[in-house]
Amino acid sequence: MTYRKVAMPARKRIALVAHDGQKQNLVEWAKFNRGTLAAHEIWATGTTGAMMETVLGLPVSKLLSGPLGGDQQVGAMIVEGKIDFLIFFWDPLEPQPHDPDVKALLRMAVVWNIPTACDRATADFIISSPLLDTAYERRVPDYEAYRRERLANDDLKAAAKIAKGKS
Ligand code: PGA
Repeated sequence: MTYRKVAMPARKRIALVAHDGQKQNLVEWAKFNRGTLAAHEIWATGTTGAMMETVLGLPVSKLLSGPLGGDQQVGAMIVEGKIDFLIFFWDPLEPQPHDPDVKALLRMAVVWNIPTACDRATADFIISSPLLDTAYERRVPDYEAYRRERLANDDLKAAAKIAKGKS
């Protein structure tokens, strides 16, 4: 596997997401870290974002509510390189209607090597990291080789033949 570097700016694009049973936890954490968060760009799922805006008095770019697709929107932003790290307080004690989306979001965070905090202690460590306020190059597997391999796939060649009427 080869790797490539993806630049993360000094001003990070932070995504905040909390399930209902964890919203209070995230609100307290964000309030405590308001000064630090103010130097960065904040994104959030709908309800979490509305709470953050009220509590922090900072601009928050709000996506859809999680169960309506907000988690998927955050995941898509990670894929597109538009989110630098994720604070995702999911609820370990409550099943969610959008559990598949939760899993998908966590998976994308790992696929693209995004720092992710799912609990308060990890969030504390991330937000106090000296890397937070500096540009950083994160290492991402070079999925180009994977893509080329997929395009060389026999099924794809067969499909191309069918498309040309040479089945
Ligand atoms: P919410 O979504 O911020 O709209 O509550 C969070 C989630 O459940 O993923």
